[in-house]
Amino acid sequence: MYMASNVNNQNTVIQASGSNGNELFRVCPHCKKEKPMSEFECRNMGDEDNTIRNQSWCRECRSKNS
Ligand SMILES: [Zn+2]
Repeated sequence: MYMASNVNNQNTVIQASGSNGNELFRVCPHCKKEKPMSEFECRNMGDEDNTIRNQSWCRECRSKNS
């Protein structure tokens, strides 16, 4: 039995217009675990919309594969 939970095709580009206390979650494509955005390092791309793009892998995977 294939357990597919919360499969989504969420765009990896996240828009952050400020913190409202709602933590975003994202599935790491490497370990397939759903983790809070705080486990993904984010970068402010510095464009006019202040787009923040998260790293694709979670912190744990990145540290293991560095
Ligand atoms: Zn991971």
